[in-house]
Amino acid sequence: MLNGKTALVTGSTSGIGLGIAKALARQGANIMLNGFGDVEGPRAEVLAAGAAHGVRVDYHGADMSRAGDIEDMMKFSAAQFGRVDILVNNAGIQHVASVQDFPAERWDAIIAINLTSAFHTTRLALPAMQAANWGRIINVASVHGLVASAQKSAYVAAKHGIVGLTKVTALENATTGVTCNAICPGWVLTPLVQKQVDAKAAEHGLSNEDAKKLLLGEKEPSMQFTTPEELGELAVFFCSPAANNVRGVAWNMDGGWAAQ
Ligand code: NAD
Repeated sequence: MLNGKTALVTGSTSGIGLGIAKALARQGANIMLNGFGDVEGPRAEVLAAGAAHGVRVDYHGADMSRAGDIEDMMKFSAAQFGRVDILVNNAGIQHVASVQDFPAERWDAIIAINLTSAFHTTRLALPAMQAANWGRIINVASVHGLVASAQKSAYVAAKHGIVGLTKVTALENATTGVTCNAICPGWVLTPLVQKQVDAKAAEHGLSNEDAKKLLLGEKEPSMQFTTPEELGELAVFFCSPAANNVRGVAWNMDGGWAAQ
């Protein structure tokens, strides 16, 4: 379905971004990876996912907190693949502390990586999408783009912000073939969340399994983690012709979290 298209997925060396990159590759999209840590493992996984279509996979190590790096990545992607047809703004970090104790440097980093980076990638990707009259911008927000939790001021502010950016981008392109939508996961067991499980285990003297149950029980009625594979399939849907007129939604996949 996505043969000949190119998807840039930020923060795709791990977790949800990697899951989305693999799902899009399975549909035939070439993939531009980004993120820190090991690159060769994720690259091999994405190549394998897209092997039936002979997809191409490239990588740019832009630090998403730096506008200059992002500009460089967008130019590199256009040079390698001609155009970015699908932009998935996924890179994100977390820090947990009450407002009065929140380190200002962590606040700035979360707003830069989880929100401002999406402004830069979006503004730089849009002209080519508009010229082609086809594009998909998928913002990985969070259930925290819809509701709040204590101790997560910067994260909740950034995620509410990216839901707002999603709506504005969708509206400004509403009469074109360019759509913009947000995905709002509940708990997904990635390294970002394992850190919070570890903190619960240490705080309450619990095993890893019991700490996971405690974490889920506080917020997620299904008592199940959403998987990167499930989120990847939602991204594929947003790229499909059936989603041509899905514009500006913030679609939660959260085990009932936001329904409460
Ligand atoms: P993760 O830690 O597994 O992956 C984060 C990715 O972002 C990694 O590839 C990392 O290298 C990259 N990254 C971090 N800082 C970066 C930077 N400055 N520049 C470039 N890349 C950077 O986390 P995840 O859980 O897969 O999170 C992905 C997205 O999903 C985030 O935006 C997160 O807020 C969101 N999300 C996660 C959950 C969850 O439960 N895990 C729930 C809702 C939303």
